[in-house]
Amino acid sequence: MKLVVLGPPGSGKGQNTGRIANKYHLKHIVVGDIVKAEIRNKTEVGKIMYEYTSVGRFVPSDIVMQVLNSQLADISGYAGYIIDTAPINMDQYEKMNTDDIDVAISLEVEDKNILRTRTLNRLICPNCRSVTSVFESPDNICKVCGATLEHRYDDNLETINFRIAQYERETVPVLNAFEALGKLIRIDSSGTKEQVFDQICKKIDDFFAKKPLK
Ligand SMILES: [Zn+2]
Repeated sequence: MKLVVLGPPGSGKGQNTGRIANKYHLKHIVVGDIVKAEIRNKTEVGKIMYEYTSVGRFVPSDIVMQVLNSQLADISGYAGYIIDTAPINMDQYEKMNTDDIDVAISLEVEDKNILRTRTLNRLICPNCRSVTSVFESPDNICKVCGATLEHRYDDNLETINFRIAQYERETVPVLNAFEALGKLIRIDSSGTKEQVFDQICKKIDDFFAKKPLK
């Protein structure tokens, strides 16, 4: 089972991809984390990435795809993989082997104010990557591992509006491309955590029941 998950900020990617990975025994590949790890480990490609990220620019698609593809090449011990947030634009889509991907899951929220509210109140565990909110964790302590929770440095209104607009401009064409291949599952991600997760699992199960794995 080879999945990609896409959605605007606040649509629940971080919250759902780890749970999907656990449930279906998939390698959980978070593109942002791979980039950060390469930079932190000062690998050859990490040094090139740092030249872009240190001045606030995006790492070019061919470099991102190079490290992503090396992660996809080794999935021994797993029943497949789930990619959190790639391909985010048509350039990445064209550089990816999309024949290999079974289905793209699109997390969708009609009301943009829900995305803004969720993102502004989001708390992330720097240790175990759990995603929660100021409402669920008012004490600022991670319920999973006990670490102190943090806001993401770029979760402010101006950046969120920019990222939502960028998603609509650059990532929505990727969704349309997957849809044209008959490889898109749309999820109404405006409900509660459990409603959204149940809906995702049901639609994944239905999709693969109709289209058995090779
Ligand atoms: Zn934690």
